[in-house]
Amino acid sequence: MEKDVAAGAESNNLAVLVRYLSCISLLHYILLTIILAYAGYIYSCLGVVFCIGLILASLICTYEARIKLGTLLYIFSILAVLTLLTIRVGWKYFFAPTAFITIMVYFFSLNIPIRKKIRYSVFMAIYLNALAILKGYLPLQAEINGHIALVILVFNICFSTLAFSYVAYAYYQKFMASEAKILQYNKKLEQMASTDTLTSLWNRRAMTQHLSTLSQQYVKHHMNFCVAILDIDFFKHVNDEHGHGMGDYVLKSLSYMLKSSMDGKGQVARWGGEEFLLTFENTDLDRAYKLLDQIRARIAEQEFTFKDVSLHLTITGGIEEYSMTESIDAIITRADEKLYRGKTSGRNQIVA
Ligand code: GH3
Ligand code: MG
Ligand code: MG
Repeated sequence: MEKDVAAGAESNNLAVLVRYLSCISLLHYILLTIILAYAGYIYSCLGVVFCIGLILASLICTYEARIKLGTLLYIFSILAVLTLLTIRVGWKYFFAPTAFITIMVYFFSLNIPIRKKIRYSVFMAIYLNALAILKGYLPLQAEINGHIALVILVFNICFSTLAFSYVAYAYYQKFMASEAKILQYNKKLEQMASTDTLTSLWNRRAMTQHLSTLSQQYVKHHMNFCVAILDIDFFKHVNDEHGHGMGDYVLKSLSYMLKSSMDGKGQVARWGGEEFLLTFENTDLDRAYKLLDQIRARIAEQEFTFKDVSLHLTITGGIEEYSMTESIDAIITRADEKLYRGKTSGRNQIVA
């Protein structure tokens, strides 16, 4: 039933919808044929059998990549049964609602322009009115026996409700699928907008947002935090002597080290070219300094190897504790000043 077919721009959803509706209509019309044959409506019976053939053909078309033809055949057969049985049996037996099912099927197609869909709805309104008026002038073939009339009415109500419910379910599924896709794209976009492509760390934008959240938490829950800025020492030499490939490799490896070292302690972002901004959350300056100095020492010991070239690196950092009296920008500037002091007084150190 759910089998996909290559059918140009038309979606598989329409094929599945037509298949299920065809099965519902087949069962409906087979039962009607039996009842009509029993009631002696032989010509009507033959007409419905012909339409059953059309529905079977529409079902086959949906498996043969001819979804448009299948849909049109389905719609035509439904309208044919509706017309035939309304004229031969009667208006009051609830045949008309199947016309609305065809409108919903027509609107489900992605390929048909909206103008055509509206035209089809107007046509159906005119057609049903014409049928109702015409029916007034045509005598019934024969009065239907009370019990049989009731059975026909019950069949029509039940199968129309079933078909309507299935169409509603198909629209619901389509809506849910689009919603899920939008959510997924939004998530992806958000992630792309907040991630640095080279290092996969947060970028400046994401960290700025996070810092603003932290300052709010500081006010609300008195959660103190520290901000540190790190810069790789003599990084220009790495690029100049070993090429940008090596430089990029170092940035990626260092970022990975920083991220894993900060796990559970705070966050890390690529703040600029070879500068990183770190937050130590729920941590005072003394403890944050110790943690950061351990990270600095680990980096200094690390050997970075890329394409047979191995080198050692050091970093310099400045760290500052947040206090409500100053803005986030002021804290970052102070951490930056400390970083500068570290650079001018020998590098490979954290200044607190
Ligand atoms: P200092 O110890 O004073 O920091 O010396 P430095 O050589 O590191 O000086 P500076 O911080 O000014 O150098 C930054 C260099 O980082 C310059 C630039 O070529 C390099 N850089 C910035 N972004 C990237 C990047 O994405 N990839 C590579 N390979 N290099 C980068
Ligand atoms: Mg720098
Ligand atoms: Mg540097």
